[in-house]
Parts: sequence; C-alpha cells; structure tokens
Amino acid sequence: DVRVRFAPSPTGDLHLGGLRTALYNYLYARHAGGKFLLRIEDTDQTRLVPGATERLIEDLLWAGIEIDEGPGFGGEHGPYIQSQRTQLYSEAVERLLKNGSAYRCFCTERRLELLRKEAVRTRQVPRYDNKCRNLPPEQLEAQLANGTPYCIRFKLSEHEEPLQDLIYGSVQHNVSATEGDPVIMKSDLFPTYHLANVVDDHQMRITHVLRGVEWQISTTKHLLLYKAFGWQPPQFGHLPLLVNADGTKLSKRQGDIGIKQFRERGYFPTALLNYIVSAGGGFEHRPNAKPQLYSIPQLAAEFRLERVNAHPSRLNAELLNDYNQLEIKARLAVPQSRLQLVEHVQQLVRQAYPMHSNLDLAESHIVEVLHWAAQRLTLLQDLTSGKLSFLWVKPSNFVLKDLSAAQLEQLLQQLDATPEYRKDQLNALFKSHAKAAGLKFPALMKTLRGALSGLQEGPGVAEMMEILGKNVVLQRLRECID
Ligand code: GLU
Repeated sequence: DVRVRFAPSPTGDLHLGGLRTALYNYLYARHAGGKFLLRIEDTDQTRLVPGATERLIEDLLWAGIEIDEGPGFGGEHGPYIQSQRTQLYSEAVERLLKNGSAYRCFCTERRLELLRKEAVRTRQVPRYDNKCRNLPPEQLEAQLANGTPYCIRFKLSEHEEPLQDLIYGSVQHNVSATEGDPVIMKSDLFPTYHLANVVDDHQMRITHVLRGVEWQISTTKHLLLYKAFGWQPPQFGHLPLLVNADGTKLSKRQGDIGIKQFRERGYFPTALLNYIVSAGGGFEHRPNAKPQLYSIPQLAAEFRLERVNAHPSRLNAELLNDYNQLEIKARLAVPQSRLQLVEHVQQLVRQAYPMHSNLDLAESHIVEVLHWAAQRLTLLQDLTSGKLSFLWVKPSNFVLKDLSAAQLEQLLQQLDATPEYRKDQLNALFKSHAKAAGLKFPALMKTLRGALSGLQEGPGVAEMMEILGKNVVLQRLRECID
C-alpha cells in the first residue's frame, strides 16, 4: 500500500514550494488509495520557530489536504515529531557503529575550521578529510576515557548506489568523491537530517518519497544508509524547482508569500492549488485550453507521476487571479457556498465603510451584485476598492458642471417615472431625453457617471443604474442638485 509523507522542518511559514510538495504527495496518495503522513523534522533545534508546526498544519488543512497520520492525527507509527524519537535514532546509530558503517569523530570545531580555511585558500570545496575513520583503537579508547566530545559520522562508500528517480530517471552521483563522511549524530546526541529521515521513512513504512529536487544529492547518501542498515529503500521522485514565469528563483517581490498571506489576501484554496498544479505538471497537457478549476478529487484522479516534467516548473502569476475568479463564480452557482460568499461580502463591506449606516446588504442585492461583478473580480475585496466602491457609497468628489441643476432635475423626473431599471430601457430613455431636451449625449453620460460613481470611465451608465437600483440612483442624483 502506498504511504507517502510530507516532512517539513518547522523553521518558518509554509510557502508555495512546500505546499507543492505536500500537494503532490497528497494527490499521489489519494490517487493510489494510500496514506498521507505528516512528519515534523525538528532535529535542528537551533532553527526552530515557535508556533511554526501549528501554523503549518493550519495552512495544510485550509488548503484541503487531509492528514491521515501525524502529530495530533493518530497513526501507528508515531510519534511523528522527530525530537520525540531520539531513542530510536540512538538505537539505529548503535547498529551502524556495530556493523562498522559509522564511527566516532573526535575532531574539534577548531580543526574543522582550519580544514575549511585551508580549502578556501587552495580553492577547493571544503570537505572533512575522514581522519577519524581510521583512528587506532588505543586512541579511540583514550578519547572515550577522557570524555572527549564526539559526533558520529557515516562512512560513505565509494560504490554509489544507483538512483532510479521516478521523475528524473537514472541519476549518477558519487558523493564520496566530492564530500567527506557526513555527520549523522551530533555531539548533543541529536541526529542530523540524513539519519533521522532514513530511519523514519523506514520505520513509518514509507513507500514513495516525493520531495524537492534540492534533496536529490542527499538521496544518493540516503541510499547508502539504507544499504548499511540492510533495509529496502522506498522509491524516490524529485520534484523540479518551482520558479517564476521568467525562470528566475521565486522571490518575495514576485509573489512568493506565505500561504497564510494568500489566504489573508482573499485567495481561495482551490484557486491556489490549481495555480500550483498548472506549473508543476503531473497532468495531461492541454495546449491553449482555457483555465479550468479542478477539485482535489478530480486532481487526484488525473494525477500521474510520469507526467511531472524534469525541468523547472514555471508559475504564471496571472493564472492565480483567473482561477480565483473561476472559484468565485463556482461558489456563486451553489446555494450553500453562495450564502457563505454573501456573508463574506457583507463583512467586507461593513469593514470598508464603517461610517455608513445605510448600506444595502440584503442577501438578494449582494447576490445580484456578485452576478454582475463576477466577471470583473479577482478577489472579493475588489468589490470594495477602486472602481467598484460606487456599489456601496456615493462619490465624494463630484461637482455638477456639464449640466445645469434644472437640466438634471428634468431627467430626474423621467427616471422617477420609470418603474423598473433595466439597462436597455434606460439607454433608450437617455437617448430620447437628450434629444427632446436638446442635451449633448456625451455631457449627459459624463454627468450621470460622475454623479453615481465619481468615475471617468468604467461600467456603462445604464448598467450602473441597473445594479444600484432606483432608490439609490434617485437619491444620489438628487443630492447633486440640493
Ligand atoms: N525536512 C526536510 C525539509 O524541510 C525534508 C525533506 C524530505 O522530504 O526528505 O524539506
């Protein structure tokens, strides 16, 4: 049975890259009817950020990713937080020491620092020289008797283990040629990433490891560790780098903000997931197809690891907005989610205009507004900002100048006599009135648009009137005369 995991380090907030990794693991698990685990990799105690685990979980759940096993979610292979598993790592290390795959290293920080400096001076990549690998037994005994602090290192074999990457195909990387023996347990008895990761993936019965390509070189080491333990390794697939549309590294400036911030800005989870998936591959490629929203079950059904490409996944920031608009429309079409949308808008409008007591927040009105505005929205917040604020409040900057008060009054009477505001009828009325009253049509439109919205351009005047409704229109126009 397929068992996959998302194994973040709680060193900060979840970003797009992390969510992509979690999502792809999740889709893979759901597609195969397997399990999705969450494991917290907090062995580097110096980098921990308080509250990060809770926030990570909150972001995952918000995105719709359900956790089958994990801290607080049950499961038979816990604890799922590495700092609570130190005993298991000590036992594992003992095993490697016994079978000769690991050794104690007594090198001081000072010696390691000198090695680094020497490497820099001779323009070489710094690497540990494996000095303690072959420490004579008397020296080892003496150091232990003295109580000299030590760490444990893993002997990198020169025989690399072949990596058959589920996404990149066969990958050759002889780590022992470029790196010194890695530390697997620090002097404080905390394991390093490599050891804890391998021990846990094995003990948690992980079948497939899907993680960012930045871990691919580590994987070549992990395969050697599996071998030293005599364990069958899981299968590995590395997900390509997530980059901007122009191929550059994701940066804050180009929209790489935390998932929580996407949420606070008003993006819906489905929009965010479809955005990620549109870049990440894994789905049948439909060139030139219009963006279309897929639910998680639909994504899971269509997802294939073979369809993930081994080149950087480019995010197209505009698509996120397109998806969010689609999501607003989709929610509007379903009674239950429509009501939530309405409540959300009511809240936004109240927040935006705290000084206005006569806002029309009736459900029917908001539904009408949403239907009308959906095509122009990327976020619900757009409803209360910039060009659409006329929907709720009258403009403050309008002065009557292209028409006289008397001329406007004449039109008001016509509008008052019109029972129902429909844009076609209103347009006809404007035309005939302009003609009969000898008004210049553009001046008339400019005045009405300004009086109702304060805008120079934007939605058609008749359309604005239709959405504002008769009462509001008459009121706003009357206030221009008084
Ligand atoms: N703790 C690592 C991270 O923060 C996990 C990498 C892996 O999935 O093995 O990404």
